[in-house]
Amino acid sequence: MKALVFRGPGRIVLEDRDAPEVHEGGALLRVTSVGICGSELEAYTGASTKRRPPLVLGHEIVGTIDGDPRLFTVNPLASCGACQDCVRGRGNLCSSRQLLSLHKDGGQAEFVAVDASALVPLPELEDPSAGALIEPLATVVNALGSSEEVRGRRLLVLGCGSLGLMAVRLAELWGAELVVASDLLPARLRLAESLGGVSFQEVEGSVRFDVVLDMVGTAGTRRIAVMQAGAGATVKLVGLHTAASEVDFADVVAREIRMEGVYAYSDEQFSTAAQLVSENRLNLDALLTHAPLADGPRLYEALANDPQSLVKVVLHP
Ligand SMILES: [Zn+2]
Ligand SMILES: [Zn+2]
Repeated sequence: MKALVFRGPGRIVLEDRDAPEVHEGGALLRVTSVGICGSELEAYTGASTKRRPPLVLGHEIVGTIDGDPRLFTVNPLASCGACQDCVRGRGNLCSSRQLLSLHKDGGQAEFVAVDASALVPLPELEDPSAGALIEPLATVVNALGSSEEVRGRRLLVLGCGSLGLMAVRLAELWGAELVVASDLLPARLRLAESLGGVSFQEVEGSVRFDVVLDMVGTAGTRRIAVMQAGAGATVKLVGLHTAASEVDFADVVAREIRMEGVYAYSDEQFSTAAQLVSENRLNLDALLTHAPLADGPRLYEALANDPQSLVKVVLHP
């Protein structure tokens, strides 16, 4: 089969490989669409060394199984199922969790071996490749919580990559009073506006936000997140760009600002994301750039060098 193999920073290579072996309880998925995630781009640029070459990347997967007419996506996060966090339904916090495209080969290939229990059947989608957005959307569902937590609230989204843009759209769908978006790239801000967001410059200084989502995670965005949060507001920390950074905790205490980490998603949040995409209520087509798998090396390079023009690349093996 054809597979894109991560061979080290700056090197994604289209190679011929044997189809992966399927172990007991596993399934062989024929990949039809697979996204490129920001975390994988960080492996490519060398910004993160978590992914060890050689490795097939790709954990935003849609595909089929021979002999089954259905379309599937894959929950790529496998947890032990037995520890305290797993028992409480928080498998995303399981200390022995395993992620496709990090701990084992992912889906940027013609086939990927997955646990049968990780398969999530999808209804017939108008655009089947939209299923590749379910996995990143699940993190957005975790960040926003539920429509009850969003309805009538004023939200600020710092960073309009694919997660930030999906957060703008979902917050709008879930009835936020105001969704404000901030990004350094004008093209991203225009996309945020097309999804229902208001540019930060238009409201700067006039709004104190109820919820601030930091999708970036630099010292700068963390500082801005706290500054823009109203008294009693919640700051959700999603982006992980920098480990340690300075925050004015006296301000956090005196204004009772809650700070919450957000990491990946529970099985339930993944199901919610699958349902949102299945119901076709998000209209996120504007975020997608489609390409054949063989164009993968070129698109990794383009994503690394020109983030302005591409948001979510979906490859089709
Ligand atoms: Zn990802
Ligand atoms: Zn566990």
